[in-house]
Parts: sequence; structure tokens; C-alpha cells
Amino acid sequence: MIVTEALGKNYQGIIALEGLDLHIRPGEIFGLLGPNGAGKTTTIKILTTLARPTRGRAWINDFDVVRQPLQVKRLIGVCPQEINLDKELSAYENLRIYGQLYRVPDLRTRIRELLELGDQSQRAASLVREFSGGMQRRLLILRALMSRPRVLFLDEPTVGLDPQVRRQLWDLIRHLQAQGITILITTHYIEEAEMLCDRVGILSRGHLIALDTPNALTARVGGYVVESLNGVRRQYILVRDKAAAYAQAQNEPSGVIIRQANLEDVFIKLTGERLQH
Ligand code: ATP
Repeated sequence: MIVTEALGKNYQGIIALEGLDLHIRPGEIFGLLGPNGAGKTTTIKILTTLARPTRGRAWINDFDVVRQPLQVKRLIGVCPQEINLDKELSAYENLRIYGQLYRVPDLRTRIRELLELGDQSQRAASLVREFSGGMQRRLLILRALMSRPRVLFLDEPTVGLDPQVRRQLWDLIRHLQAQGITILITTHYIEEAEMLCDRVGILSRGHLIALDTPNALTARVGGYVVESLNGVRRQYILVRDKAAAYAQAQNEPSGVIIRQANLEDVFIKLTGERLQH
């Protein structure tokens, strides 16, 4: 369980995060969705004890992240945004060094389990620099699982990966959820938030502007979108249902597309900006 209360952080006068209230349930996959600079990494850094909040408080399974950092660290696994593996070492060695650092008991067995879980047993001895981007990301997640965390933080775990590899990682993340692990994931991929997350919080410029299930969020803006060409600009009209969409489409001169609303539409409606550029 992850709880935050009026959490905030400034960096030399820049407000990175403001008034964040979250209540993430045990076993939930919760997504923080927002464009670059929205405050996602800042949130993860505070919750994983790597940054001190300027305001408010946060707890992981009832342990305060500022006052009880050691207890928090024992509960969590962290997969950072940058791939900070040692690329000149093998997958096995990367896991071994990390496991020794955390004094993981029966390390060889644990590494074998992890490699199996990530389908990397065959490549254990290969140098990480020979791994594809997807395999490196997967290894990063396996490393975060080393000390059997109850709460897992994944900061943009599929950034830069092609859709098929991204889906394979989602399967792994769902598998971890099935084992009862609570997962907080940050992303700026709409599809990732929609397909993977039980609930999504949308961050914009440090503020949480919406929080709900993906379906409830998209239903809030209407459910359907009529896209059309207005001169050289595409225009987006949000409507309640399919019938309203067809009615609206009659009025549009050219290039009409009717589609279901997605989280990008929610973001545009709330902020006037786009999530992805
Ligand atoms: P990204 O996807 O690009 O990582 P993000 O949503 O994770 O974006 P943060 O990294 O949390 O956003 O950044 C939030 C704001 O805080 C941004 O304006 C950023 O420039 C600022 N910021 C983050 N870290 C620092 C720092 N160490 N010093 C100064 N400003 C920072």
C-alpha cells in the first residue's frame, strides 16, 4: 500500500510536485501518466527515499518514507528510468553484484529463479551490451525483484521499446501483480496506462489533475471522438456515444474519423496540451 498526503517538492524554486494525495491499494497496478516534466520521477524518488519531500508525507505499507527509510527500503524494489546496468558484465554478474550488495540469502538460487522468471536463463552468461533494449529493460526489472519486494516502482519501464516488446514486459508486470506485488508505474504512453493499469493518476506540471480507472476517465470526457480536418488542422470533438458521433460526423466536411476516446483526449480536455509530441 502506498499513501501520500499533500506531498510536494521544490527544486530551487521550481515546483516539481504539489499537493499529491494518493491511496494505492495492495496488489494494484497504479499508473502515473504525464508528459516530460510532469513530476512522475520526482514522486518515485520521494517514495523510494531518494529525495526528501518539501511538503506533506508519504507511507509505504505504513512506514514513513522520511522517518523510516530503512524499513521502506526493505519493502521496495526500484526500476529506474535509465538503464544503469553494467553493460560490460553478464546478466548473471549484474544480478550477483546487486544481490551481494543487498545480502540476499541463497543468492545463486534466487538469481536462477529470476533469470527463469524473465526468460533469460539461456542468456545468463552473455554480456549485457549484447542484449536488445527490451532484454536490458527486463533484466532491470528482474534486478529490482532481487529482494522479493512487496511494492515495486517502475519508472518508464518500456520507454523506447517497440510495441511487441512492450507487450511482453506488460505480461511480466501482470505476472508480478498476480503474486500480490503492489506496482507503481510511470509512463507517458497512453496505451500502457490503458492496457496495464487498474487505476491511473494524470499529472500535469506537478499537479494531479485526475485519478480513476482508465474507463472511468475516458467516459468522463465523452466516450467518442470525431476527428476531422479544419483547413490544415485536425480538430477533435468529444461526444457522449456512437450515435452522437455519427450525427456530428454529418456536419464535418472532410477527413472524418470516429473513434473511442482515450487518455490522451482526457489530458487534452483537462490541460489543452498533448501528452505525446
Ligand atoms: P520525465 O518523464 O522527463 O522524467 P517527469 O514527469 O518524471 O518527467 P520530473 O523529472 O519529476 O518529471 O520533473 C518535474 C520538474 O522538476 C521538472 O520541471 C524538472 O525540470 C524539475 N526537476 C526534476 N529534478 C530536478 C533537479 N534535480 N533539479 C532541478 N529541477 C529538477
